[in-house]
Amino acid sequence: MLSLRGRRVLVVGGGEVALRKTQGVLAEGAVPKVIAPEVVPGMEELERRGAIELRRRCYRPGDAAGFALVFAATDDPGVNARVFAEAQEAGIWVNVADEPALCTFHLPARVQRGAMQLAVASEGGAPFVVRRLRQVLEGRLGPEWAEWMDAATRFRQAVRALGLPSAAAERRYETFFANTVDGDRLRARVPTADEVAAWLAPRGEESRGGGDRASALGEVVALPLNPRAGPAPGPRPGLVSLVGAGPGDPGLLTVRARQRLLSADAIVYDRLAAQALPPDLGEEVELHCVGKEAGRHPVPQEEINALLVRLAIAGRRTVRLKGGDPFVFGRGSEEAEALRRAGVPYEIVPGVTAAIGAAACAGIPVTHRGESVRLTLVTAHESVKGAGPQVRWDLLAQDPHATLVGYMGVSSLPDVAEKLQAAGMPASTPAALVSHGTTAGQRVVVSTIARLHGAGIAAGIRPPAIFVIGPTVRHAAALDWFVSRPLSGARLGVFAPAAELSPVLDVAGAELVEAPRPLGPAARVVIGAAPLTGWLLRSVDEVEALEEERGLPGWDAEVRAYCLGRPAAERARALGWAHVVELAADAAPEAVVAAVSGRSSGAALAGAREA
Ligand code: SAH
Repeated sequence: MLSLRGRRVLVVGGGEVALRKTQGVLAEGAVPKVIAPEVVPGMEELERRGAIELRRRCYRPGDAAGFALVFAATDDPGVNARVFAEAQEAGIWVNVADEPALCTFHLPARVQRGAMQLAVASEGGAPFVVRRLRQVLEGRLGPEWAEWMDAATRFRQAVRALGLPSAAAERRYETFFANTVDGDRLRARVPTADEVAAWLAPRGEESRGGGDRASALGEVVALPLNPRAGPAPGPRPGLVSLVGAGPGDPGLLTVRARQRLLSADAIVYDRLAAQALPPDLGEEVELHCVGKEAGRHPVPQEEINALLVRLAIAGRRTVRLKGGDPFVFGRGSEEAEALRRAGVPYEIVPGVTAAIGAAACAGIPVTHRGESVRLTLVTAHESVKGAGPQVRWDLLAQDPHATLVGYMGVSSLPDVAEKLQAAGMPASTPAALVSHGTTAGQRVVVSTIARLHGAGIAAGIRPPAIFVIGPTVRHAAALDWFVSRPLSGARLGVFAPAAELSPVLDVAGAELVEAPRPLGPAARVVIGAAPLTGWLLRSVDEVEALEEERGLPGWDAEVRAYCLGRPAAERARALGWAHVVELAADAAPEAVVAAVSGRSSGAALAGAREA
């Protein structure tokens, strides 16, 4: 970019076009002189302010001498041509308005963020799009680009201070750019001091004379940053986070799990973890389901491992979302091994494991003073399938002051129960099955070790389920807090934001899916992960937004539409929805709870009725 600061610029002409050119160069710090017999008021104003030197006369030969740039913007083509010819002759850059052939330069439209400048030009051919493009870029480029450019300048100084060979310096610039700029979304972020230090550090191939996988990964390009991550330092590109999703209830995600999910570029999830996905993930986040889905086989472990490595090498911030805790019967450690072998950086974000979550929500303390002083997590599956017995059921049977929680054990329960009793566990030992623990679909069957299997079948218990064996199971009924909540069992969709409703419904025991409008891919996955019992709809708009989604997984014929206000309810009925519950438009959250729980009296609901 040429610097016009302090430069003398001649403008021939006094109309609106000449005024725009004059203002343009003034903004660049130039010192304009304007020659025109008549000028528009704006030009007079500039003269009054002393911003320009104005000569109210016609252009004369010799006027252009001594200027750095010349503009001609008169309505006399003859004058314009003479100005052009004279400037050309004198070797001065010249621009004749609306005459691309008579221009040796064009003033670009510019977008500036600190030291960073972008120029848009059309060689004079289509100034109208140049202006609009500038507006588009103004809107797309946030203020962070100014800081980013400063950071880039500092980074370059630091690299130069290292005195590296040019190829090594170039690799560092590449790393800086690849890690801080999202070209697809025109976003940039300032790297953290730690990142900069790591990028500046000597690299393996420089000191050892050969590349290794890990250092190669550090230079991977092509990495869309997450737009929601913004300039705040998020996980570094190419990191794989093995994240525990908890047992199902999305409220049991850890803070870090949620943070990693919200700043992920790609998420590889199991079916059991789908319910915990944030429904408002951006459409651009890649979602890979690798768990069992109806009609589809689970993706083999080796393919999952390969997928994780591939995503990481492509520079994606990748979350491997696994049910419960990644290292508890989740094969998370096998994935970690595969990542380590490939030289891919990873982290583990622990999660609430099914035993802890499901037992707590079934009112079963896994330890209790004087009753149970040991907790064993065991996979019942392995014991029947493996080459030889891996689980010493005989030893577990000998310990009356312990709690035994079995994973993946619904089908092997009879076998397990038999072994335990054969080894001396009393047939009357309390035992429970908890399926879909912590979620709206939770079912609990409490019995004894001898009878649990039959009781589970009678109750129609389906996987995923754990069995809990031990004296503390006895507390289940007395310590229940889960089922006794008014909305226990309700899984409700509501369009975000639902700030006034959500906390009340949550405390009342409903599982909420706070969906964005329109529904994005993540919301569809979450909705389809377990049956919804209802939708809360607060306007005709919301009813219509949902109409196209009816019939998708998660939405069966029994889903109730709780409509706030008559218009929404009438629209839902007109669309042929089966179960429409009308509530007062201004129904308080408590009234909504009453309606959803089915306990509402007509009075409490102020006119709620089911169609
Ligand atoms: N890593 C997971 C376990 C994966 S193995 C964890 O830490 O929880 C899958 C088994 O977990 C299922 O067969 C079932 O036994 C158990 N499980 C997972 N989610 C469950 C839930 N919500 N309720 C009961 N059991 C569950």
